[in-house]
Amino acid sequence: MLTPYTTWKIGGKAKYFTEPTPEELPQVIKWAFTNNIPTYFIGRGSNLLIDDAGLPGLVIVTRNSLTDLQREDDVIIAGSGVFLPHLSQFAAKQGFSGFEFLIGIPGTVGGAIAMNAGLTVFRPREMTSIVKDFDVLNLDGSVETLTMKDIDAQYRQTNLLDGKRLIVEARFILEHSGDPEEIKKNTFAHLAERKRKQPLDKPTAGSTFKSPRGSKSAGWCIEQAGLKGFQIGGARVSPVHANWIENLGNATSHDVRELINHIQDVVREKIGINLETEVCFLP
Ligand SMILES: Cc1cc2nc3c(=O)[nH]c(=O)nc-3n(C[C@H](O)[C@H](O)[C@H](O)COP(=O)(O)OP(=O)(O)OC[C@H]3O[C@@H](n4cnc5c(N)ncnc54)[C@H](O)[C@@H]3O)c2cc1C
Repeated sequence: MLTPYTTWKIGGKAKYFTEPTPEELPQVIKWAFTNNIPTYFIGRGSNLLIDDAGLPGLVIVTRNSLTDLQREDDVIIAGSGVFLPHLSQFAAKQGFSGFEFLIGIPGTVGGAIAMNAGLTVFRPREMTSIVKDFDVLNLDGSVETLTMKDIDAQYRQTNLLDGKRLIVEARFILEHSGDPEEIKKNTFAHLAERKRKQPLDKPTAGSTFKSPRGSKSAGWCIEQAGLKGFQIGGARVSPVHANWIENLGNATSHDVRELINHIQDVVREKIGINLETEVCFLP
């Protein structure tokens, strides 16, 4: 079952499952490619809804095996499975700022690059501002080095989300040096702010919808539409933050999808805004 591999704690079985080392990866990818087996990439599953019916192919999970993290001169080199809060703390210890926003994003380097993860509230920041370049493995086994520009990174979106290239390793720019204690203080102030405003004690996938264009947030639209606390099956619009959907313990992927569709319909009807999902769906 893939349930433990997503923060929503939802998801059926994988037909094939692997957590390969960097050395094993090319072989694994080639095996799937030659045998015409669909591949699915999971970092920490913190932005993913996996269907209860499972995934009919090979699931590659990076969180436990692609976790190398080191500094070489003014560059941090991180495996795609590195946990973002670890990267944030690593940069702070080295005396570099700019990585503080990663402390509260419970994903991996690979997932964050594929999503162009970031913040719109607190201090706006995204992966484009810290990533130098990264290596991807194509499904035929070839390797390329790309930048965020090459993948057309926009707000919570890149062209890597088509699942055809696996991010293996990334390099980060160390530009702004500072006092490690001061950086640490700012980082933890940011985390405390999150704890106050977000339902961090419940299984969620963070923001369900992207912020619509204009000044209104998705959470505001959902709250104004009267949906805060609204529930379908085991899935509930968080009473703490309306753009987050909580799994109350027994939610199915069907419950979450139904709730997402319902929110989109009601917000369109009452507020006149089309909410676009930020979460990804597998398959
Ligand atoms: C409590 C909480 C708070 C959050 N706060 C934020 C926030 O402030 N800002 C924000 O942007 N997001 C936030 N999120 C959402 C999520 O953490 C980010 O989008 C994160 O970057 C996803 O990383 P992941 O490793 O979990 O990716 P996953 O959810 O595993 O995957 C996301 C997508 O990336 C693909 N992918 C994963 N790894 C790779 C790889 N190595 N190569 C290619 N493709 C890959 C997957 O196939 C999928 O399409 C939050 C989520 C939670 C639960």
